[in-house]
Parts: sequence; C-alpha cells; structure tokens
Amino acid sequence: MIFEKEHFEVLMTKCLISFNLDQDACTSETHDCPQCFKSYNYRRNLLRHQKYECGVAAKETCDYCSYVTRYKHSLKSHLQSQHYEKLAKVIE
Ligand SMILES: [Zn+2]
Ligand SMILES: [Zn+2]
Repeated sequence: MIFEKEHFEVLMTKCLISFNLDQDACTSETHDCPQCFKSYNYRRNLLRHQKYECGVAAKETCDYCSYVTRYKHSLKSHLQSQHYEKLAKVIE
C-alpha cells in the first residue's frame, strides 16, 4: 500500500498547488462512473463500484411488489416498511 500512500500525497500536493491557480484541477482528479455518474476520488474505488455495485444486477426481489434491490438488508427494510401486515401474517 506504499504506492497508494504516495499517490495520495501526490494528489494532495497537486490540489494544494492548483488551489491557488485553478480550483477545477482538483475535481478533474475524480473518476466518474459512466453508468450512474457517481464520482470517486480514486480509480480503484470506481472499479470496485463498477464491479460490486453498478455492474451487478439487482437480485433481491420483493414477493409482494416490483421492488428490486442488490442488498438483502434493503429488501428486509423494504418488507418491514412496505409490507408489514403481510409480513406479520407470514411470521404467524
Ligand atoms: Zn455506477
Ligand atoms: Zn414490496
């Protein structure tokens, strides 16, 4: 992780230097996802996003409506907030 630390410092130095010259230079270092336009400071974060979040199809589907999510916990909170009554019946 030595490389990443160095990279970070270079980035910071660039930003500090460019701050007085051109404030946009800092933002030009961000990596934007072409699909959802989320932006990340680091390319590896963008790659992680594309690999595990953006490019991944939503798999958790709600049995009671068309709700779809990538995360089990999101589906769980959806069920609890949107289908509480049905859920209560299932549990009984
Ligand atoms: Zn994305
Ligand atoms: Zn639902």
